Amino acid sequence: MKVYNTLTRQKDEFVPVEKGRVKIYTCGPTVYWFAHIGNFRAYVFADTLRRVFEYLGYEVRHVMNITDVGHLTTDDDLGEDKLEAGARREGRTPEEIARFYEQAFFADAQKLNILRPQIVCRATEHIPDMIELIRRIEANGFAYRTSVGLIFDTGRYPDYWRLGRLNLEEQRAGARVAVDPERRNPSDFALWITNQPRHLMQWDSPWGRGFPGWHIECSAMSIKYLGEEFDIHTGGIDHIPIHHTNERAQNFAATGREVVRYWMHNAFLQLGEARMGKSEGNIMTVTELERQGYEPLAFRYLCLTAHYRMPLNFTIEALQGAQNGLRGLRELGLNARTWQEAAGDTEWLERAQREFRNAIEDDLNLPQAMAVVWSLVREGNRRQDRRAWKLLLDFDRVLGLRLGETVEGEQDIPAEVRALAEEREQARRARDWGRADRLRAEILSRGFVIEDTKEGWRLKRA
Ligand code: AMP
Ligand code: ZN
Repeated sequence: MKVYNTLTRQKDEFVPVEKGRVKIYTCGPTVYWFAHIGNFRAYVFADTLRRVFEYLGYEVRHVMNITDVGHLTTDDDLGEDKLEAGARREGRTPEEIARFYEQAFFADAQKLNILRPQIVCRATEHIPDMIELIRRIEANGFAYRTSVGLIFDTGRYPDYWRLGRLNLEEQRAGARVAVDPERRNPSDFALWITNQPRHLMQWDSPWGRGFPGWHIECSAMSIKYLGEEFDIHTGGIDHIPIHHTNERAQNFAATGREVVRYWMHNAFLQLGEARMGKSEGNIMTVTELERQGYEPLAFRYLCLTAHYRMPLNFTIEALQGAQNGLRGLRELGLNARTWQEAAGDTEWLERAQREFRNAIEDDLNLPQAMAVVWSLVREGNRRQDRRAWKLLLDFDRVLGLRLGETVEGEQDIPAEVRALAEEREQARRARDWGRADRLRAEILSRGFVIEDTKEGWRLKRA
């Protein structure tokens, strides 16, 4: 397996810290608003990475944080906490905001068949771990006080620039908007903030009452759950110059080591010329995709058609193409229901398997893997051989397109029954049990039973 490592700027051979195991940390959502499909490109990438390792026989431990404090609206440690801004906007508490959007995030993630990381950890529930790590950083001489709070001294870490390939100019321009005269270096950043007395979420600490800077949560939680040396850290490329550069500096300051072996970053989902982003004002959500009649899984398919390190342009035409592609893959399964598993000539199947594996082992080359998938589909249709479908289902452990479920069940289910099932799901989520039960009865009267599984609802003929 080869992976492109942002730290070395090349494809490196993947060597796990522990044989047969992979430890992955993914920067999770800041839960102050709905995640957009640009964000979900990052989580589909991390999920596909996890699936690839599992497919290759590794045992994966995947950790993702939930940012529910400390992520400010600007990078100068002086902005407003996004959670608190969200709370003000909606007249609710930061906690209510955090829980609501966290739930919305996982509901969308499930629709995209993103497997839930084994460990999901909230920043607000790890304040003591952060304080402990900051203590170590301070004890090793990497911190000083200003009127903002406790500040990390990036000047003490000569390798600070490496992950982002930052030169001094970029460190000035990128990291700090207005140069704060109290800071020793323009790239220095807050570990613990004490100068925002109106901030609702505050904790006592050795540096006074306050709240953590954003970067420390990821250092503290990744080390807590994965140890002082782990394999892979993922995130979008926007995190390279500041968030991950600062995380790496904190890791080194606390432990004296290079904690993360491979840093992997996905390129942006773009809409028009610009990155999709809340501040760019050009966002699209999973719910909006559905409203326009597309399946969330069509978006997942779209993600698989571009290499994760290449920008991906989002257009409705591209999404429609992905939706058609998804149907084309399912069609093989529908066709295959009347086919036999032919005997003999396994060469073409073995070749497909080998090529698929080579593609995913080459830094997750999913577009290449999809080309293999399509030549398998064509060949399977030509030969009318059910083995092609079986192999495609095996590949789907990586693709995550739920090909098995959709073909074996839902294709025969009328659209209005599926719509009732969706409605019932919404009722359940709103805890409207009466309505959910009525919808279940309605579905039954049309000849279908609905079952709730870990992956969501499933319909069967009664
Ligand atoms: P945030 O909630 O802002 O911390 O972002 C969550 C994740 O989405 C991070 O890994 C970002 O790098 C990533 N991200 C944000 N916008 C995009 C985009 N347009 N395309 C791909 N990834 C993105
Ligand atoms: Zn992070």
